[in-house]
Amino acid sequence: MKKVFVQTFGCQMNVYDTGKIHALLGKDGFESTDSMNDADVIIVNTCSIREKPELKLHSFLGDALKIKRTEDRPVTVAVAGCVAQQEGQKLLNRYRELDLVFGPDAVPRVRELVDAARSDVPRATKQVLDTEFLDLETYAFASELDPGSTGQVGAFVTIQKGCDNKCTFCIVPTTRGPEVSRSSDQILEEVKGLADTGVREITLIGQNVNSYGLKVAGERTFAQLLYAVSDVPGVERIRYTTSHPRDMGPDVIQAYRDLPKLTSHLHLPVQSGSDRVLRRMKRFYNREHYLSLVDQLRDARPDMVLSTDFILGFPGETDEDFEQTMSLLDEVAFESSFSFKYSQRPGTSALRLLKDEVAPDVAQARLVRLQQRQREISIAAHESLSGQTMDVLVEGPSRYDEGVVCGRTSTFKMINFPGTLDLVGKTVPVSVIRGFTNSLRGEWVH
Ligand code: SF4
Repeated sequence: MKKVFVQTFGCQMNVYDTGKIHALLGKDGFESTDSMNDADVIIVNTCSIREKPELKLHSFLGDALKIKRTEDRPVTVAVAGCVAQQEGQKLLNRYRELDLVFGPDAVPRVRELVDAARSDVPRATKQVLDTEFLDLETYAFASELDPGSTGQVGAFVTIQKGCDNKCTFCIVPTTRGPEVSRSSDQILEEVKGLADTGVREITLIGQNVNSYGLKVAGERTFAQLLYAVSDVPGVERIRYTTSHPRDMGPDVIQAYRDLPKLTSHLHLPVQSGSDRVLRRMKRFYNREHYLSLVDQLRDARPDMVLSTDFILGFPGETDEDFEQTMSLLDEVAFESSFSFKYSQRPGTSALRLLKDEVAPDVAQARLVRLQQRQREISIAAHESLSGQTMDVLVEGPSRYDEGVVCGRTSTFKMINFPGTLDLVGKTVPVSVIRGFTNSLRGEWVH
């Protein structure tokens, strides 16, 4: 049996695309392997949102191509994802032994592409490139995913690809193309298929889910889609990501009042607490608007837990701007955040602001300070949960302890507690014993 190994870098869209690659190649008889050394096809699904994951690609490719060079059997090496889209032919020119480069929109064609790139002769290379963007019709490929192969408690469902915004730091509109929404009927069909196989938690994903469907006459809005997914029998929880604070409307906030299946956690990227920086980022909301959204969300769902993204050291960010970000962190009391130093990305308009570049050591010091404060807030929030009983959807065995299972609360807290595997897929009450920075420890109440 042929084996495929896929290394994934980056966001949930990439995790989802990797799942599709496995499912599609599985139809051609490929078995998934965790060992790159055993694989006949090695694929690296790349991320270009920051410089660091892009650099990881090059060290990964060094290892993968060494395997191709030294094995006495044909090994096909491919680069997928956003760096593939961004660099295209340049990657093939730089790595002459690389067999295949394909962008995110070419994932549905992965079977033909791998077929075209594979050779029967060890060390031979054909070099195949596919970085075409799909149109709306061809994007609708839900039926290509075999829901029977998921076997999971939770699953991602893509509702949209690409983005029409032009946040000045972001490369996504270049690598993923303009925003296209999938048909909601197809999304619902996929959700039903997943629920039938035992999936209990659906995470709807897109670059800017709040603008879902707005470009298509007669299509459901994002809020209407949430109500429709909530009606699917078997679905117990609904999450979604990513939201843009400018586009989060009152209808979605109302959904938090109406839909108990909609979980009490929202990732709402703010990026900065300074209006000046938000303007330079072209985010089209200000601090006041963001805080008002937080109030409305907590009014609709009092136990709402918020997480966010921060970029530190964006060009022109002053000490005062940074202090505004720090004060926003405290004011909202985000329970977790992803924070990064600004990273220059090719083709983004923030490059025009580089004359105001923040010195790397200043950006680093700001990052360290913010992350330290975030840790304090996270630990305090988790410790305050001790003694509370929460409903936990059990996902599987703990990675570290035998006889311990793990699952998530509605507020997206990972909790470990002693239990058996027959609990997987069930929602059970768990009393919190202890809070750590990133997880909780608990006890099943039964
Ligand atoms: S909304 Fe902004 S940050 Fe998000 S994908 Fe679109 S351009 Fe990038």
